Amino acid sequence: MNEISSPIAGAEPLLVAEAVVKQFGANTVLRGVDLALGSGESTCIIGPSGSGKTTLLRCMALLEAPSDGRILMDGMTVAQAEPSSSVRASAKKVRPEIGMVFQQFNLWPHMTVLQNIIEAPMRVRGLGRDEAIAIAEALLEKVGLAAKRDSYPARLSGGQQQRVAIARALAMQPKILLFDEPTSALDPELRREVLQVMRTLALEGMTMLVVTHEMGFARRVASRVVFMDEGVIVEQGNPSLFFENPTTERARRFLTHFE
Ligand code: ADP
Repeated sequence: MNEISSPIAGAEPLLVAEAVVKQFGANTVLRGVDLALGSGESTCIIGPSGSGKTTLLRCMALLEAPSDGRILMDGMTVAQAEPSSSVRASAKKVRPEIGMVFQQFNLWPHMTVLQNIIEAPMRVRGLGRDEAIAIAEALLEKVGLAAKRDSYPARLSGGQQQRVAIARALAMQPKILLFDEPTSALDPELRREVLQVMRTLALEGMTMLVVTHEMGFARRVASRVVFMDEGVIVEQGNPSLFFENPTTERARRFLTHFE
């Protein structure tokens, strides 16, 4: 199971991290990470706090530049240390295709739910207002929040805000959605409604990469689980196999915290 660093059989690699190293000053946080995400795959990254999960996700979201190695999207290099102008141009082209959902939702507080969702499709994708509104309304329906379209974020629960954030990311029609601990800021009773939306997306074939401490979600929904520790991928593979029979001592020790 450890040797498998490519996506599930038959899936096209969409977003790839190749030998990615990331340093913050003297602190080496990623020590040469290879990860290829296939189209339609939903991958969960799990592991102890400080193991580099969020940093890897942010490198793949093009929010952090790797110190060494590179990120590829659709076979094009889109990030590397000291990127050439052609790499920068490729990054600009693919950035709207990579959606991101943050732990703290990051909705614009001065805009209504609808305005939050239509802003980027109009500004970045160049959609007309009516078209953007039609897409936003369909997405609000999908996440169960049609009635909240004219509310401001402060009037919504955390779970509702996160569902709006997911709708906002989807409105850009991304090829892949990256989630950074999407339920960690939520009370347990609100996590469920967010995980339910994410589960539906995964079942519909959305390509997803999720940093999470939700072991139930990773086990039941992910097509692949990646276990990180100390800046490397220690083990990865099929969720049922991983959770039932982790092959490394480090993964076994980590999983005892969730029993
Ligand atoms: P995880 O998501 O597994 O908890 P992170 O990727 O958030 O791990 O962090 C890994 C390490 O990188 C930590 O030691 C953290 O302090 C450090 N780190 C993350 N982001 C930064 C940053 N912007 N500047 C300096 N250090 C950082």
